Amino acid sequence: MYYIDPHIHMVSRVTDDYETLAKMGCVAMSEPAFWAGFDRGTVDGFRDYFRQLTEFEPKRASWYGVRHYTWLCINAKEAENVRLAREVIALVGELLDTPGVLGIGEIGLNKNTRNEAIVFLEHVDLAMKTGEQILIHTPHLEDKYQGTRMILDMLSDDRRIDRGRVLVDHVEEHTIREVLDRGFWAGMTLYPVSKCTPERAVDMVELYGPERLLVNSAGDWGPSKPTAVPDFILAMRLRGHPESLIRRIVYDNPLQFFRQSRRFEFTPPQ
Ligand SMILES: [Zn+2]
Repeated sequence: MYYIDPHIHMVSRVTDDYETLAKMGCVAMSEPAFWAGFDRGTVDGFRDYFRQLTEFEPKRASWYGVRHYTWLCINAKEAENVRLAREVIALVGELLDTPGVLGIGEIGLNKNTRNEAIVFLEHVDLAMKTGEQILIHTPHLEDKYQGTRMILDMLSDDRRIDRGRVLVDHVEEHTIREVLDRGFWAGMTLYPVSKCTPERAVDMVELYGPERLLVNSAGDWGPSKPTAVPDFILAMRLRGHPESLIRRIVYDNPLQFFRQSRRFEFTPPQ
């Protein structure tokens, strides 16, 4: 089955992973900007990272026939340096017309601090002024419930936002309902630690249905599995779900969400 991974950090992966993903049916992926494992010191560090995301990764993906798209921002983990964050947000504004950039992300909260909220709202303001889609990171573990509520409240306070153009990622059992009920897209991240397993993702499909629901691998530099979406496909089959439902979640839904970006160009495989 063809599928799309809407959230995977390929800068952390080797070229062999692109080949494996292509063999497993991955035809496209999107890579949000994220934390590199250390705080970058200058805006030029981000400029180089954004070149990697918009130039080199699409090229590496193309060697295996995979389309690579990206999202730009400064991650919440680096938001405590508000001055640097503002320089990066200005840089993101300059780069939004680069081919393959689908919008602003993954913005959000990490420890739910005041500075994180300031930088989050300034990203949202840029997205609204430029008509961009938004991809959101919700915090981990003990910070997730409160952080997700804070994010949804900040978004709901801004009347300019079209919720159908916002994806809230890393939802779990205690956060998915509110994200969907408020009209946003929800992404389930399959992750060996701290996030969701394929079986729990299937449970959530059974509880909430496929509408505005996505599944991704995150596939970053930590313990993670870039082939987690095929694991989800298998888990769905083993529960007896039809191919049409599986395909809707792993292929049709990401296409429907991405097509709202004016720079999204994609020719479906025959
Ligand atoms: Zn991520």
